[in-house]
Amino acid sequence: MSHNFFDCHTHTEFSSCAEDVTLEAYTEIAATTASAFAVTDHSAQIFYSPDNRWGFWSDEALPLFEEHREGGEERIAEYIAAVRDAQCGGMQVGIELDVLPDGRKVFPDGLLETLDVVGGAVHSMPALRHSRPVEEIHAEFRRQVEALASHGIDVLVHPYRLILAADVPVPEDLQRWTTMMAREAGFALEINSHYQFPEHDVRMVRFALEVGATIAIGTDSHRMEEFGDFSYHEQIMRKAGLTPETWQPHIFRARTRQHEAAAE
Ligand SMILES: [Zn+2]
Ligand SMILES: [Zn+2]
Repeated sequence: MSHNFFDCHTHTEFSSCAEDVTLEAYTEIAATTASAFAVTDHSAQIFYSPDNRWGFWSDEALPLFEEHREGGEERIAEYIAAVRDAQCGGMQVGIELDVLPDGRKVFPDGLLETLDVVGGAVHSMPALRHSRPVEEIHAEFRRQVEALASHGIDVLVHPYRLILAADVPVPEDLQRWTTMMAREAGFALEINSHYQFPEHDVRMVRFALEVGATIAIGTDSHRMEEFGDFSYHEQIMRKAGLTPETWQPHIFRARTRQHEAAAE
């Protein structure tokens, strides 16, 4: 039997790479089941203009960011309002936050604090795109993680995906560095089932347990069939030595800031 977890990471039609997932379908799930999850669409794909939603992933990311700033801030505000409006049951309102190569967030000031879950992603690395030496790629990864931490993320999502997908090694010392950052800055490290790296995920959980960093469970659903399937997360946690009796205190749950604010 599969266990239920808080899913910190799902996508809707607000993300360009989403397939059949929709905010409407999640609303239906939240209204009719006990599922608990956060809707976390890509900040850059909402912020950048609709005719260039992949602009962030190019070498023009900075000038395009400046050019589309006003519209981008409006589009983000509209996205938050739409998800907040649809929110019911165990649904949380979040974002998958992108940062520019200079560390600035692709997001308006003053709004991250209104969200229930902020996932931070290393999504675009110029050093990787230009096949720079491994040390430069690792240094760029560290800079982006530090930038995300400075913006107050709750979860670092798919921490090593970009690097591993490019067949660049992620050595143990880089994983240990990330784990210490997670503990000190207070963000969780995501086991992500959308694109799986079992060896690195098991090591990530082991290191997190060693130093007391938190683990997050994310399906990163781009297709409806991915939603609610926690078999990969369970398998990783079990391989790292956890059991259903012991894993709960190590797993991230949303802060539900909106509800807290309402209760005050
Ligand atoms: Zn992502
Ligand atoms: Zn995602």
